[in-house]
Amino acid sequence: CGITGYIGNKKAYPIILNGLKRLEYRGYDSAGIVLNENGTFKLRKTKGSVSDLIAKCKDLNSEATVGIGHTRWATHGVPSDINAHPHISNNGKIAIIHNGIIENYATLKIMLTSKGYTFKSETDTEILVNLIQYMQETQNLDLATAVRYALNEVIGAYSIAVIEVDQPQEIVVARLSSPLAIGIGENEYFIASDASPFIEFTNEVVYLEDGEMATITLKGVDVYKIKDNSKVNPQIHELKTS
Ligand code: GLU
Repeated sequence: CGITGYIGNKKAYPIILNGLKRLEYRGYDSAGIVLNENGTFKLRKTKGSVSDLIAKCKDLNSEATVGIGHTRWATHGVPSDINAHPHISNNGKIAIIHNGIIENYATLKIMLTSKGYTFKSETDTEILVNLIQYMQETQNLDLATAVRYALNEVIGAYSIAVIEVDQPQEIVVARLSSPLAIGIGENEYFIASDASPFIEFTNEVVYLEDGEMATITLKGVDVYKIKDNSKVNPQIHELKTS
């Protein structure tokens, strides 16, 4: 299973697809991608391989410069097109990819259902994206703060990437017990489970530590703690290309 994403000035689609291919070695049963094209989500996902996903993207000649992609190893819900990631919140505005497990998803699902939320998939991940929407709407929060509040309600393991339809210049990522690397390019940033998807674009990488999250925009990367929002000065590692 793996996650990858891009924000910059290039076309995101080929970079993300290429990244997913590089992550195939990690094992997976489904794949998906979402791009933010001028304030519209372009979503494609499928049970099967990255090649199956590419077949479903034939009509997708997207100029979008921000997007995220996922390979899934199912833990909650069978491998299927509907259970494949990305998942979108009820209001259609937030998209998430997730590797890991939300252990207390059943309790959260009961709470969200009582507030009128509905769910298309059987995944724990779809609960999380709607918890983020719930935080945002009930407390009038920006995306990163809503993600942070939601994660403070979660028990489990995750690496996630989240984008919002109205904020096309931003990716929010977080990790706990599941790896997440951020590649620092020139006015462009890459995210992935490991550095292999972006090795030809940059040799500067930040590895998020457990309990950290980051807001990535074209202006840079802010890293901070999920628990208390305290700022982290990330260590930039240099990738050795042999
Ligand atoms: N628990 C999530 C699911 O079953 C993510 C699985 C993964 O790590 O790919 O959809």
